[in-house]
Formats: sequence, C-alpha cells, structure tokens
Amino acid sequence: MTQSLTIRRPDDWHLHLRDGAMLEGVLPETTRHFARAIVMPNLVPPVVTGAEAAAYRERIMAALPAGARFEPLMVLYLTETTDPADVRAAAASGLVKAVKLYPAGATTNSASGVRDFDRVRGVLETMAEIGLPLCVHGEVTDPAVDIFDREAVFLERVLEPIRRATPGLRVVLEHVTTREGLDYVRGGGPDMAGTLTTHHLIINRNHILAGGIRPHYYCLPVAKRETHRLALREAATGGEGCFFLGTDSAPHADAAKESACGCAGCFTATNTLSILAHVFEEEGALDRLEGFVALNGPAFYRLPPNEERITLRKGEPLVLPARIETGAGPVTLFDPGFPLLWHVES
Ligand SMILES: [Zn+2]
Repeated sequence: MTQSLTIRRPDDWHLHLRDGAMLEGVLPETTRHFARAIVMPNLVPPVVTGAEAAAYRERIMAALPAGARFEPLMVLYLTETTDPADVRAAAASGLVKAVKLYPAGATTNSASGVRDFDRVRGVLETMAEIGLPLCVHGEVTDPAVDIFDREAVFLERVLEPIRRATPGLRVVLEHVTTREGLDYVRGGGPDMAGTLTTHHLIINRNHILAGGIRPHYYCLPVAKRETHRLALREAATGGEGCFFLGTDSAPHADAAKESACGCAGCFTATNTLSILAHVFEEEGALDRLEGFVALNGPAFYRLPPNEERITLRKGEPLVLPARIETGAGPVTLFDPGFPLLWHVES
C-alpha cells in the first residue's frame, strides 16, 4: 500500500483570494501548498484593466506570509467595454494570463459581466490571435432556466456560438459540474480545457438540501445529481490531459453564508490536497494525482511545471480547525464528511 507520494508542487487554476482583511486571512492557506494560482478578478469593483490587475497583484504580494514563494497569475474581468488593446498589452507584459467571462449575474460579484456577447467580439478575436485563454463561468443567467440545467444550456446557447465565431480562441470551462460539460471539453480539441473543483468531487445536491439546508455546501455552479459527481471523479482521476484542478476556493465570512440569502462558495484551500489524495487513492489513481494538480494545467497555459516537489504522507486523521479566523470574520472550512489521512509534509 502506498503510504507516501512525492509530486511536483501543485497550482490552483481557479482561486478567489478576495481583498483586504479577507485576502490576508486566506492567502496563507493557499501559499502553504500551491506555487501559483489563477486569481479570480471578481472584486468590488472588478479587476477590469491591466493597471487594476497590476495593483491587485501588488496587494497580493504585500499580503504574502514571510518566506512564501507564490506567483499570482492575474486575470482580467471581461466587460462590454473592455479595450482589446489593454488586454493585448497586459498579456504581452506577462502580467495577465487569462480573461474571465462571467455572464452578468451568474455568481458572486458578477453584475459587471457580459449581457451582449457581440460587444466583446473584438476582445475575443484579439485573445484568439495572441493565444490568451478565456476562463468561462459556464452558466446561463436566464431566470427561465432551471438552476440545475444552467451549465448544459450555456454550452449550447453561449459557448458553442462564441467558439464557432472565434476560431482559435482558447477556452477553459471552469468548475465543470455536469456530464454534458465534461463531454463538451473532451470534444473541444487542443484549445479547450476544463477545471474541476475539489468539492464537486465530494458532494452532490443532497449534501446541500437533504435533512436541512447546509449553506457551507452551497456554491455556484450548484452541485448536481450523484451521476454527475461520479462522472467528475472519473474525469479528474482518469488521466485525461484536458482536465486539471481549479479549486474555486471561495471564502465568505460565516455570517454571509449562514443567512437568509447565503453567498455561494466553498472554502477548500486548506484541505484540498488531502481530500484529493483521498479521492485519487479510492479510485486507484494516486499515480495520476500529479498530472491533475501539477502538469495538465501548466501544459494548457503554456507555462513550465513547477520544479519544486511536495510529499504527501498517509498517517493519523488530520486535525484541522472547523473554521479559520480572518480579519473579515471566521470562514468555515469545507467538510468532506470523512477523516483525512493524507498530510502534506512541510
Ligand atoms: Zn469561482
């Protein structure tokens, strides 16, 4: 039986770090294990321009714990007024690694997102030309579409037309939650990839709704039926290069989650690697963990993989606090519902 595993230091290809006191509180949870992260731009106001991304990067670097080696990979928030020349310059300087598409109203702080996709055509064409990936929150926001169907409808109604109109556009379908999404990524060729979160490998919709509402399992896209969760596990652990880890770790203070209108997001930065080692071991795929967390993502983003290694070792159940304290309030850690035996050695 495998008791330890040494792999390249992983990256997180979809992460929310927030700003201010929350940033300071959650950043060490990511930098402890991860070398780089694609940092989501959905602040208030959002990170739209290259100059705003540079300023946000400065704030992240200033909040790094002493001695941490971590590279935030910055992302611009696509709006209907985004300037293609600014995107081009921000990518050319090496600062910005992706642009994020939020359909207006899809999730936390997405009010500035795109309503009319014709208005972003010029930006998308520039991105296709320079090879800059578009990260997509793949849900329609049409209130007539059932929340459990919004990802599948988005593929047909929004993503496929965008990709057909913009040949060569490189796209990451983020936090895939359905079999339809997985199949879309698989069929998308070399310019298409998908990220999978930690929590969607663990929970289905029953975890949120059965036996009482569990706000800490509520996220967007919302967890789907068990058949979808099993398909996601198969995709994550199956060794397909088009899938890699994007935790979508999304901290909210507990008061904002445990409320009459609770915020969407699961906070998994702290225990993601232990959870994933558990999942991959269960699936008999520990030898594929490195590809999922440390190789497939850099390959898609055309970045070198990390040279540094980390070691995971199996031992006594990991003792983690139920919540981490931040200057913006306590943040409850995602509870996978089973003991975690895999420790990341420091
Ligand atoms: Zn997210």
